[in-house]
Amino acid sequence: MDFAWSEEQQALYERILEAAGRLRSPEAQGLDHARFRERWRHAADLGMAGLTVPDRYGGGGHGALTACRAVEALARGSEDMGLSFALSAHLFACCMPIAEHGSEALRSDVLPRLCSGEWIAANAITEEEAGSDIYSLRTEVRAEGDEYVLSGTKSWVTNGPVADIFVVYGTSNPAAGFLGLSGFVVERDRPGVHVGPPIEKAVLENVPASTLVLDGCRVPAANLLGAPGQGAAVFQRSMGWERTVLFAGYVGMLDRQLERSVGHARTRRQFGRPIGKNQAVSHVLADMKVRLEAARLLLYRAAWSIDEGREDDIDVAAAKLAVSEAAVVSSLAAIQIHGSLGTTREAGLERMLRDAVPATIVSGTSEMQRELIARRLGL
Ligand SMILES: Cc1cc2nc3c(=O)[nH]c(=O)nc-3n(C[C@H](O)[C@H](O)[C@H](O)COP(=O)(O)OP(=O)(O)OC[C@H]3O[C@@H](n4cnc5c(N)ncnc54)[C@H](O)[C@@H]3O)c2cc1C
Repeated sequence: MDFAWSEEQQALYERILEAAGRLRSPEAQGLDHARFRERWRHAADLGMAGLTVPDRYGGGGHGALTACRAVEALARGSEDMGLSFALSAHLFACCMPIAEHGSEALRSDVLPRLCSGEWIAANAITEEEAGSDIYSLRTEVRAEGDEYVLSGTKSWVTNGPVADIFVVYGTSNPAAGFLGLSGFVVERDRPGVHVGPPIEKAVLENVPASTLVLDGCRVPAANLLGAPGQGAAVFQRSMGWERTVLFAGYVGMLDRQLERSVGHARTRRQFGRPIGKNQAVSHVLADMKVRLEAARLLLYRAAWSIDEGREDDIDVAAAKLAVSEAAVVSSLAAIQIHGSLGTTREAGLERMLRDAVPATIVSGTSEMQRELIARRLGL
């Protein structure tokens, strides 16, 4: 067992960390789409939009573990957790299914544009009545000659308002559950594609999300991912990537949060001494450190198992659960340590909490991860 990073991995981390620190703060930028694209292009110039895509399609050709380190660096160096989240949704739920299951024509056509930052992708599986119960999709898939016709409404599409292409899942037979699902690439400019207005979220405010309506939208058979009926497998594989590498962003955020909390505990004085000299405060920081490192190790192991071709869904679920729940618990602790300052927008700590909350919901809720682990324990 070797816990050391290679020189290349460390150099990548430091390069992205340094560049991320120079990305402009999103606070003043809000949800301005032009500025969102500008920040996206900067991150893409660092290689973040195609980290794990094979280099022949313009990606970085990195494995999951190296990608974790890069995503971690971006979220540690930049205050903008949303950018890391949006890039990861694009890369792991969209680019990777295309790279792993798309036809050669589709890969060569779309991946270079997705990796360069010219195009943004969005994943659309969730529906109003199909959240955790993902195999109860109602979006209809009908084969017609060498085309498929898609009809249905998707909700909570991260990047939706700015996306150029969508990875969409639908069913050709709702009664067949996961066996009926198929996944497609749908370009935004196809007739029948309607993108809703941005959802007014209180979390990840710098990432736009929307509904997506497909109204008899025709896509060529070449846009199918994998074979008809393989959509569930395509989606679950993409979730293996996303549940692991996207959450490395939260590890980066927790590093940043701990650093700031320790700094505050050392400099804020009450009763004539730094507040960190009180065990009630210093032990909270010690617990934050242990929670972070435990989650980090689970995450790295899950990423390693993907790279080794030994991906085990219990490892991925445990890592996702540990990182996301650490993010919520430690974000609350960081606010408490900062006292009234922690409740101000200016300090940015309440934003870390708001950005942490969806971590326990997206990519499968905490309850669904526990269900999976419990089933694997034979319960
Ligand atoms: C910020 C954000 C970004 C998102 N981005 C995307 C995206 O890009 N693409 C996309 O397709 N979707 C996206 N989603 C949707 C996300 O995947 C769903 O919200 C998630 O799958 C949960 O579904 P739901 O919200 O309908 O909750 P529900 O499934 O209704 O669950 C509600 C509660 O019930 C619990 N629950 C449900 N079933 C069970 C069970 N069997 N056992 C125990 N507990 C259960 C859940 O764990 C949860 O606590 C996003 C959501 C958010 C908040």
